[in-house]
Amino acid sequence: MAQRTLKESIPYVGVGLHTGKNVSMRVRPAEENRGIRFVRRDAPVGQGVIPALWHNVIDTRLSTVIGNEYGISVHSVEHLMAALCGCGIDNAVIELDGPEVPIMDGSAEPFVTLIEQAGVVRQSAPRKAIQIHKPVTVSDGDKFAVLMPDRIPRLTVEIDFESSVVGFQRLSLELVNGSFKHDIAPARTFGFMDEVEHLHKMGLARGGSLRNAVVIDGDRVMNEKGLRFHDEFVRHKALDCTGDLYLAGAPIVGHFFGHKPGHTLNNALLQQLFAEEDVWSYVTLDDMDRAPVWRRIAEAKLSSAIELARAWARKVA
Ligand SMILES: [Zn+2]
Repeated sequence: MAQRTLKESIPYVGVGLHTGKNVSMRVRPAEENRGIRFVRRDAPVGQGVIPALWHNVIDTRLSTVIGNEYGISVHSVEHLMAALCGCGIDNAVIELDGPEVPIMDGSAEPFVTLIEQAGVVRQSAPRKAIQIHKPVTVSDGDKFAVLMPDRIPRLTVEIDFESSVVGFQRLSLELVNGSFKHDIAPARTFGFMDEVEHLHKMGLARGGSLRNAVVIDGDRVMNEKGLRFHDEFVRHKALDCTGDLYLAGAPIVGHFFGHKPGHTLNNALLQQLFAEEDVWSYVTLDDMDRAPVWRRIAEAKLSSAIELARAWARKVA
């Protein structure tokens, strides 16, 4: 039930997706009750610290961007946040010498490997979690996200794309002790060829390539080795949601249901959650001996929860 941090600090150099420039990153241990903090080493002294919290999110269009009152920001925090959540890390400092977390291979797997290499240590303070007491919903057109009460952390994600490579996919997972790194961490970010060309023309996604994303052209996957899972797309969406929701500042004990979710909707959901005090409370997690992981659960058990989520979303919309 104790909080956890890293045993030692780990350095890494990688390319940023949007700038295309090399970034040096170091993930360091942090004292208990300090949470996850990003520090821009290239910022003026005393201005580079950005706590990884929902109210510091300043942009969600292409990736999740956090910033502080000095105008210092860090782009693309979501995959690293997902790895920290999946590995059960409560306290850590992430130092960067540039504006972006390295894209790695487009998944969270390399971050999980880095965390495992550094080692994980238990601290003395008990681990806190956020327990959901009443449903919270946000929607945007046909997209919606709901947080519902549940005994355990649970996540259901649906995506729906015209491309027959993707189509409709649903994934449902529960957070149990097991292997986040096998089910979710390896799923890579994805994009469509015409979007990638458009982003390049706007000077964005400069570091993007087939080495760090699944690229789809019409009904074809362009990557030579194909997909890592037949449903890699919805698994990556679950990865993004895990990372975005970890900006709550603690793991959430409840059922997240997202229909076509994205960074904007995820942040809106956290804003809505913290705007209402009676819908959640802090609890202490009992067993954190092993890293929590997501496990796929039988779809049949979920049908009622999914119907409930849809009903709540309709009520709000
Ligand atoms: Zn992503």
